[in-house]
Amino acid sequence: MSGSGKQAEPTVSQVLAGARHRFTEAGIESAAADARVLVAGLLGLSTTAIITHGGETVAHEQAVLIDKAIERRLAHEPVHRILGEREFYGLPLSLSAETLEPRPDTEILVDTMLPYLRTLAKTEGHIHILDLGTGTGAICLALLSECPEASGVGSDISADALRTAKSNAERNGLQDRFEAIQSSWFQNIHGSFHAIVSNPPYIASKVVHTLAPEVTKFDPAAALDGGTDGLDAYKAIAKDAARFMQPSGVIGLEIGYDQRNDVIDVFEAEGFKFLESVKDYGQNDRALVFALK
Ligand code: GLN
Repeated sequence: MSGSGKQAEPTVSQVLAGARHRFTEAGIESAAADARVLVAGLLGLSTTAIITHGGETVAHEQAVLIDKAIERRLAHEPVHRILGEREFYGLPLSLSAETLEPRPDTEILVDTMLPYLRTLAKTEGHIHILDLGTGTGAICLALLSECPEASGVGSDISADALRTAKSNAERNGLQDRFEAIQSSWFQNIHGSFHAIVSNPPYIASKVVHTLAPEVTKFDPAAALDGGTDGLDAYKAIAKDAARFMQPSGVIGLEIGYDQRNDVIDVFEAEGFKFLESVKDYGQNDRALVFALK
């Protein structure tokens, strides 16, 4: 190795320590975790294996790739965007330019909806789910993977997102029960659903630019911006949802931390019955469930 005049190849733990150091110096809050997830992901190792394989060497070409990825993280790109995928509810999901990166908080909506779906499956046999603004397909695919009796439609205004959702369905063996439809809210939707779910854009327009650069520069604006008061999407969904629901159907929505009462008002004004509100890991209101009256 040294005979060629090239630098000695670094070990896995040296590369990891280097990444952690650069992230810490740059003031990245989750420096240690980011370094571990990024370097492990690029080496094709689990975050545990990266520690047990710490003494192995990293080939020069790989070290160069890791260095480029570190630079991207230093320019605020989130680790999972760089890797091009992340796990949601145990499912590996690819990301693309027009998909929001699924957040752990959104798993709360999946947890909230599953008991309703299981109860409905008992009485109805087969159940049909609509996920409005599906993005990566995260919510719908998680529900399908947990509910073998269900089929689902993921709709999105973005063709890029729908391609990603479809490939995520295939990647997780759910393609036979998942249909992707290009639609602005209910525009191209037909049929009647037992559950309508959505994590719509809900950030007020003037607030979007105040979010972290990881969000504003890398999550698609269309998945974040909920209009002047952040409620545009909820109003659009509430206006038409009843026509697309089975009588026993439910609506489950992710909401912003301060939107509980406003979104309940929007749905009650359209004649829906509020069923429950669920908090996220940070004790913020995060998911709401409604039914027909
Ligand atoms: N939870 C996301 C954020 O805080 C917003 C997602 C959304 O608008 N649906 O950036």
